[in-house]
Amino acid sequence: MVADNIHPESLTAQGLGWVDETTRAINPSIPMSSTYVRDADNAYRSGRVYMRDQNPAFDQPETLITELEHGHQTLLFASGMAAATAVFQALHPGDHVLAPQVMYWSLRNWLMNFATSWGLDVELIDMTDPAAVEAAMRPGSTKLVWIETPANPLWTITDIAATADIAHRAGALLAVDSTSATPVLTQPIDLGADLVMHSATKYLNGHSDLTAGSVTTRSDNEHWRRLRSVRAQIGGTLGSVESWLLLRGMRTLYLRVRAASSSAQRIAEHFDGHGSVVEVLYPGLPGSAGHEIAKAQMSGGFGGMLSIRVAGGEAAAIAVAANVKLWKRATSLGGVESLIEHRSSVEGAGSPVPTDLLRLSVGIENVEDLIADLEQALSTLS
Ligand code: PLP
Repeated sequence: MVADNIHPESLTAQGLGWVDETTRAINPSIPMSSTYVRDADNAYRSGRVYMRDQNPAFDQPETLITELEHGHQTLLFASGMAAATAVFQALHPGDHVLAPQVMYWSLRNWLMNFATSWGLDVELIDMTDPAAVEAAMRPGSTKLVWIETPANPLWTITDIAATADIAHRAGALLAVDSTSATPVLTQPIDLGADLVMHSATKYLNGHSDLTAGSVTTRSDNEHWRRLRSVRAQIGGTLGSVESWLLLRGMRTLYLRVRAASSSAQRIAEHFDGHGSVVEVLYPGLPGSAGHEIAKAQMSGGFGGMLSIRVAGGEAAAIAVAANVKLWKRATSLGGVESLIEHRSSVEGAGSPVPTDLLRLSVGIENVEDLIADLEQALSTLS
């Protein structure tokens, strides 16, 4: 155990400081058993029966995420999508849920195409406007409000505390996809959220070498117990090796997120007002729509994600992505390497994303190298 007053970066660097009691190793072993022996009197005193949802490899990363999010408990999943969809699958047919118009596109697609056919009443609204959230609430039937802040890939900001208040007054839970904010920059539970979800594939792991997801709850309640059953019974759980890698990646979370945020701020400021850039979308820019709320609910930076809209439209944006040398043309985000992506090519018809938008996931390379590479790619337009 570690002292209670230790800073989260110390806790994270040491993976909670846990030591293997048998070997005294400072890194856990990787458990590779799918099943556990029952005692002769038919009991299971070890507390473990089967690997699917009782894998000891979950214990350390789940406890660490719970600590960082100031929550009650965390569940790991095989991907961010498995984690997010479990939150909705734990609801009941007929429940009304609100989700943002601007959000991770694959979850939006799942909500509109699958969750609705399972009986959820899904409504997409403008989550940046508390009055719109208030107006959309149906007390008694709205059971969940889902937000993402900053929201992919326009990086719009939702006021977590105000939205939690609106949700709670109507008897609904507030769930936050905090993937891009990370626990380094925002603690949604402290601001009133009931659930915090991460695509741990991104910043928590940080090395683009696995998929994982997590959900952390503020408290034990009926919805959380159903969510635990969803994980146990549907079984979208993480493997032991991936759980180990996730814990290893998290040890450098604070260093990586702070470096990426500081570089993203510098890149946003550099290209704001640039002749070949129509708009820079980044909540750290003082003139941006969500800046004041972001300043109040994020601390230590505004994250490593930003988007730029390229002068000259879709073809010009695709040409810039084609001409970078250091940035990697790839989907995903939150890794140590910087990624660039023409987002509307991915999201397709029905996406709110402008066709001239390039999404940038800033890694931990030298920021001047990243700026110079974008400058040379933009210069090929003229
Ligand atoms: N939420 C956000 C904000 C994401 O960016 C992603 C993936 O890009 C997900 C959820 C889904 O996570 P995963 O790819 O781990 O399933």
